Amino acid sequence: MKNYAGYSFWLEHAQDDLTPRPPLDGSVHVDVAILGAGFSGLWTAYYLSQVDPSLRIAIVEAEIAGFGASGRNGGWCVAGFPCPTERLINTYGVDAARAVYQQMYTSVDEVGRVSAAEDIPSNFVKPGTFDIARAPHLLAGHQEELDVFKRLGLEDNYRLLNAEELREHIRVHNAVGAIWSKHGASVQPAALARGLARAVERHGVTIYEQTFVRDYELSPKPRLITDRGDVWANVIVLAGEAYLSRLPKLERQIIPTTSHMVITEPLGDEMWERIGWQDRGVVTGGGTRGGYLNKTIDGRIAFGAYRSVYPYGSKITDELDRQEAIFQHSRESAYDWFPLLRLKGVRFTHAWGGVLGVPRDRMPRMAYNPGAGLATARGYTGEGVATSNLSGRILADLITGKSSELTELPMTRHQSPDWEPEPIRWAGATFVRKSLQRIERQAEETGRYPDKPPLAQRIWRR
Ligand SMILES: Cc1cc2nc3c(=O)[nH]c(=O)nc-3n(C[C@H](O)[C@H](O)[C@H](O)COP(=O)(O)OP(=O)(O)OC[C@H]3O[C@@H](n4cnc5c(N)ncnc54)[C@H](O)[C@@H]3O)c2cc1C
Repeated sequence: MKNYAGYSFWLEHAQDDLTPRPPLDGSVHVDVAILGAGFSGLWTAYYLSQVDPSLRIAIVEAEIAGFGASGRNGGWCVAGFPCPTERLINTYGVDAARAVYQQMYTSVDEVGRVSAAEDIPSNFVKPGTFDIARAPHLLAGHQEELDVFKRLGLEDNYRLLNAEELREHIRVHNAVGAIWSKHGASVQPAALARGLARAVERHGVTIYEQTFVRDYELSPKPRLITDRGDVWANVIVLAGEAYLSRLPKLERQIIPTTSHMVITEPLGDEMWERIGWQDRGVVTGGGTRGGYLNKTIDGRIAFGAYRSVYPYGSKITDELDRQEAIFQHSRESAYDWFPLLRLKGVRFTHAWGGVLGVPRDRMPRMAYNPGAGLATARGYTGEGVATSNLSGRILADLITGKSSELTELPMTRHQSPDWEPEPIRWAGATFVRKSLQRIERQAEETGRYPDKPPLAQRIWRR
């Protein structure tokens, strides 16, 4: 058996028995069969069980609940939506974009509410999100962001902070200002996923672990196909995010991209006093040393760098998680943000990675086709902790035939275009990634971003 605790600091500290649940043993019939026991599958099962407790629901998981990105992420439970806000407005209009954001705000709160109601030790706390500029040229992006939210009438949820105001919350080397969002929470992601799995079981859901779904069919009746039997259902839900690229039918619908994190040993009170990060608001910042940060309940700093790898042919392996160059870059970046860490010789105790799913247009899909009995929730591009809760609430309404403001959101109708076949896909993704890094370097040297979008960005958009 795999050492599941070794896949992330969070899984190791989830305070749950990671021994796999029994696998599927022969074919079964249920009302709803869900592929994947990450946040998307678990939230869908959770809300379905709340809306209609009589439903027979089964989740089929290749490894263990929380094995994927849900058990390894940055613990950022925030209202950021994967599709850029401006594009959301231009494509669907101001009202639809506002409705999406209002539901994202609710999703953050739902994670906290359900954690409390179900006794899930997710360490949920919601002091907000601090997006910190560590160079003057990064401040313009904050103003643009605020202007977009003004168009939605949601600006009260955000606040620009100057360097001095920011220092009241956190002291980061070279910080010149920040934008704060009210809807940012910190969670222990693996504890949330594992606790949610136990909660859905209490509500009557069956989870089969160690059972890989190799395909699905919709006719004569929907079913998930595994080597251990089939799960026949009225509705099947595909909730495998990046890993869905392994199913031949979805191979070009989503690609896996990595993200990686390192974490320090617990810092003493004196260091926290000097860093000043007293609550557990989540923190980010751009630039070549940019990253997403979290403070754990036992006083560690988790740092994820904005560096990633796309594997040729979308091939997901355990080796992909271990990118020593990115780990080292993350450690150096953390020292750059907080020079005190280096000064005091603070050690990094863990380093890990995982895959997140990227659709061709960065727009998630949370959809149900009642005629086919097929539902899916996917495509969060690295912003899935709160967004997957929204998926669960939307799919529960769609599948039970309830029309609500959730079922009117644009993700319920959206279908992303296919990714290009290889080798174009790999060459394009690698070219864009390297070009964007070059742009960040140049912006730091010149103090400004180029006026005209560079070639890489224009190609990326197309
Ligand atoms: C390092 C890292 C940091 C991140 N940081 C953040 C963050 O701070 N905030 C944020 O919002 N988002 C973050 N993300 C993204 C976020 O974690 C994901 O968007 C979210 O967890 C997706 O949940 P999911 O359930 O859809 O997918 P997953 O958690 O990946 O779960 C999919 C599950 O399906 C199973 N599965 C897949 N295919 C099959 C199959 N064929 N048969 C059976 N089972 C299958 C997998 O084993 C897996 O358990 C991060 C991701 C990574 C990797």
